[in-house]
Amino acid sequence: MKSVVIVGGGVVGLFIAVRLAKAGARVTLLEAEGEHADVFGPGASIAAAGMLAPLDEAVSAHTALAFESYDLWRHTHAGTPWADGVRFDGGVVIAKDEVDAYGYERAASQYGRRARTLSGSDFRRRTGLHTKVGGAVFLEDEGVADPERVLSGLAMEARALGVIIEYHQDVANVTATAALTNEGRVYEADLIVLSPGAWATDKLKAAAPALARVTAGKGHLVSVTLASELKPNLHGAGFYIARRRQDVVIGATMEPGRYDRRVERAKVDQLVAAARLVLGDEIADVGRAWTGIRPMSPDGWPMVGRSGEVLVAAGHSRNGWLLAPVTAEIITAYVFGADIPERWAALSPDRFNEKPKNP
Ligand SMILES: Cc1cc2nc3c(=O)[nH]c(=O)nc-3n(C[C@H](O)[C@H](O)[C@H](O)COP(=O)(O)OP(=O)(O)OC[C@H]3O[C@@H](n4cnc5c(N)ncnc54)[C@H](O)[C@@H]3O)c2cc1C
Repeated sequence: MKSVVIVGGGVVGLFIAVRLAKAGARVTLLEAEGEHADVFGPGASIAAAGMLAPLDEAVSAHTALAFESYDLWRHTHAGTPWADGVRFDGGVVIAKDEVDAYGYERAASQYGRRARTLSGSDFRRRTGLHTKVGGAVFLEDEGVADPERVLSGLAMEARALGVIIEYHQDVANVTATAALTNEGRVYEADLIVLSPGAWATDKLKAAAPALARVTAGKGHLVSVTLASELKPNLHGAGFYIARRRQDVVIGATMEPGRYDRRVERAKVDQLVAAARLVLGDEIADVGRAWTGIRPMSPDGWPMVGRSGEVLVAAGHSRNGWLLAPVTAEIITAYVFGADIPERWAALSPDRFNEKPKNP
């Protein structure tokens, strides 16, 4: 039986733990923080909006993987302890005009996905909002995960599958087959997987050089109360809105290179103002705001594969929630020595290494 130690218990580490355990590995997950993380802790996962929106980023060579991961969300949630923490109500993009809306429709159809341009009255019916928009499109394949519910459900699922989760275990260093904590405990395994978000220490970066490429991308979110029963995610200029299990959030700003967690009122006001331009009085109340630190990679897509003598799953940038299931599939294939299809190998950290010049 393969044994694996995972360092980092955010959404990425937890999805990997569950998937590896289902594949028959003996898994231990080490997390520096306590079990009940909140938005003020270091983890990006608990602080995120949790949108599962494959067309949110500009279409790239990896967009098909975003849809692959979305499909995994859809097909694996039933029967899990976190099933009631995800919803799949689609997304509505407010476009600049009808031509812009058509661009989204075409992009979705390129991946075999359904999208529909919305007339003004369709928009109002679909969203419950009374706003007049120049153009809009409904994307069927979108959803949202409630971070708190899904993270605790994933931990529950992992434990039920035999994963040992050790909280308050801050890993100071790793070798190919061991993780050493700051308190001097040693966890040995056949393989080590590092998923430390934006928080890798110099020693972890030395063990897995890919982690040195991860930078911080601070983001603000703010919770609001809406007058209407908006169900799909809503994307507008400079903001998005997601209705989760317990709340509605407006997101998200991007402050590259920032590790501080300070809430900047001006940034929050900017988000709310952008949303109010479209929603007006639909925003009945503005609640608390918080920040999170995204683990950014140089191209905005995760690094999943070998680095040094260990495996890394890092740099998930703006889409760690969306991409966690496919990340877990890829890591599982590496752990069990399965073939890595080209589309998965394309996320290898090696893609950033300098290519040898032609003589
Ligand atoms: C404001 C905001 C909005 C976002 N919205 C979305 C969204 O709508 N959709 C989406 O898909 N993504 C979104 N993201 C991005 C997403 O949250 C991240 O990409 C994802 O959470 C990264 O997950 P992770 O598990 O790699 O990192 P994290 O959640 O940061 O987890 C890493 C964990 O590793 C632990 N750790 C670190 N070092 C050690 C160590 N040495 N020993 C032990 N443990 C260690 C940390 O304590 C932490 O718990 C958003 C992010 C932010 C900040």
